Amino acid sequence: MVPDFIRHMSDITPKHVPKTRKTEQEWRESLTPEQYRVLREAGTEQPFEGAYREFSEQGTGTYVCGGCGAELFSSKEKFDSHCGWPSFYDPANAENVRTREDNSMGRTRTEVLCTVCDGHLGHVFTGEGYETPTDLRYCINGVSLKFVPERPS
Ligand SMILES: [Zn+2]
Repeated sequence: MVPDFIRHMSDITPKHVPKTRKTEQEWRESLTPEQYRVLREAGTEQPFEGAYREFSEQGTGTYVCGGCGAELFSSKEKFDSHCGWPSFYDPANAENVRTREDNSMGRTRTEVLCTVCDGHLGHVFTGEGYETPTDLRYCINGVSLKFVPERPS
C-alpha cells in the first residue's frame, strides 16, 4: 500500500499514460548520461554532488522537469534539509507530480515521478521532524530538475 500521507491519490493510477512519450533512443539523445540514468532508469545521484542542493542558492523561481520541462516545484517550497539533495515540502504543480510505491533496495519507499514524461525524480518521506508545513520531504535528484529563475519585475 502507498502510505496514507500521500494526498494526491488520484495521481496514482495503474492506467497512467505519460503525455510526453519518447523511445529509449530519443531519451538517450535528449538527456545527458547522468540524466538518463536518473530520470529513465530510476537512478540516484550521489549526495552532496548534484545541482540545486543548497537551500536558496538559486533565488526565486521554478524547478521544472529535466526531462520534459513540466513545472514541478517552486523555490517557495524548497527547504534546507541538509540531506544532500534538493528538498521540497510540497510540489508547486501537484498535477505534474505523481507517486508510486517503490519496493527496491529491500524497503518500501514512495517514488516521485513526473506525470508528464514519467521521469524518475526521487522519493518522498514523512515524519522526519522537519519544521515544514507538510512534514513531507520530497527528496529530488538535482539532475532531474532544471531551475528557471523568476524574471525581475
Ligand atoms: Zn517530465
